[in-house]
Amino acid sequence: MFEKILIANRGEIALRIQRACREMGIRTVAVHSEADADAKYVKLADESVCIGPASSTLSYLNVPAIISAAELTDSEAIHPGYGFLSENADFAERVESSGFVFIGPRPETIRLMGDKVSAKAAMRASGVPCVPGSEGALPEDPDTIRKIAKDIGYPIIIKASGGGGGRGMRVVHTEGALLNAVAMTQAEAQAAFGNPVVYMERYLQKPRHIEIQVLADEHGHAVHLGERDCSMQRRHQKILEEAPAPGLDPKLRNRIGKRCADACRKIGYRGVGTFEFLFEDNEFFFIEMNTRIQVEHPVTELITGIDLVQQQIRVAAGEVLSFGQSDIEFRGHAIECRINAEHPYTFMPSPGRITAYHAPGGPGIRVDSHVYQNYLISPHYDSMIGKLLAHGATREQAIARMRTALLEMVVEGVNTNIPLHQDLLQDQNVLDGGTSIHYLEHKLTKAVEN
Ligand code: ADP
Repeated sequence: MFEKILIANRGEIALRIQRACREMGIRTVAVHSEADADAKYVKLADESVCIGPASSTLSYLNVPAIISAAELTDSEAIHPGYGFLSENADFAERVESSGFVFIGPRPETIRLMGDKVSAKAAMRASGVPCVPGSEGALPEDPDTIRKIAKDIGYPIIIKASGGGGGRGMRVVHTEGALLNAVAMTQAEAQAAFGNPVVYMERYLQKPRHIEIQVLADEHGHAVHLGERDCSMQRRHQKILEEAPAPGLDPKLRNRIGKRCADACRKIGYRGVGTFEFLFEDNEFFFIEMNTRIQVEHPVTELITGIDLVQQQIRVAAGEVLSFGQSDIEFRGHAIECRINAEHPYTFMPSPGRITAYHAPGGPGIRVDSHVYQNYLISPHYDSMIGKLLAHGATREQAIARMRTALLEMVVEGVNTNIPLHQDLLQDQNVLDGGTSIHYLEHKLTKAVEN
């Protein structure tokens, strides 16, 4: 096992990784920007190195500074967390060529999955069901483009192969709008991602977002850890996640989970990963794979009892998975509310100083957060204050516990979305479960109209 890991991230995930390391007896190095110098998790790390000014381009995305910090501190491995450099294949390559272990998949795997056209092709070849669409990149010939769209059937969605973060997509309802939409998406994709390649898919109208968590070692073992329903989203940002997905037939879960684990073995996947699917009419359609730990990973930890960050570290150190698929049991129900410093209904970010803070507790409650009273939420980074999780024997119990926890939680000095979560957990459609990815935006629009 490693003796020392450098954590190339900030905020709650930096603290989460630090906690996992501490439990495993691994020393940690926190790299941080000037803006995060006083953060408690930086002080709690065994060592810390300032890697640049507040702007993330100059700090958390500053590859030479991070590599130097690893050299300076004699770290053996680098954990990228999520966001920032976590899915940057060039970074993973630099880490490995500098003699450190990248805690994640091999650079070639990140590259394969980071390009959506190649990811989809690899998934199709591995037997993972995909959204019906073009066979790879769209050709240039307008007639062929029209024919592909016609064969798929309108509405269709044009997507950038290099896209991410919900950008580089356009829905097209009629043939008249098709070629213009293709040209515009190509131009945007070139400008935003330096890659003009686009492809086409059937546009699913009322899907749910259900993702499968996987874990694989480099010795050919792979398991799935069930699903998470992340349909509650606004502008493709997840707000509330839960597992198991309400109403999902366990047989379907096992079938799709097995496909994902098989795909991991086929592509030689290493580490934790997430297969994201749209789910409509009881069918799964692959949209993309995330080759890193996800924000919402604790939901799965609560129902499986498996520490995903520790497993990620073990696999990166070359260990063999210590359990197989039949050892994994799903217990009860877990829900996560992302608590953000933002206006609950306009979503306007609300950085600033937290003047009073009280974290909830009690049976089944978990809070993953790096904040405390007097913590300054910087305008330079995302506005997540932390993640509040509730676990219960049943979905009803998890919801009841979450309601109590939301009531107990105190965050003053900034706006938070706690009222939105309280509202959602009183909403009959949410209580019934199974709402689509458009539900929240429709609900908010309706609220404005009334
Ligand atoms: P990104 O990497 O930018 O997050 P994804 O491929 O994961 O891109 O798609 C992001 C979101 O866009 C999905 O969660 C879904 O809301 C919507 N979307 C993508 N593809 C489709 C599709 N074929 N039909 C309907 N919605 C889609």
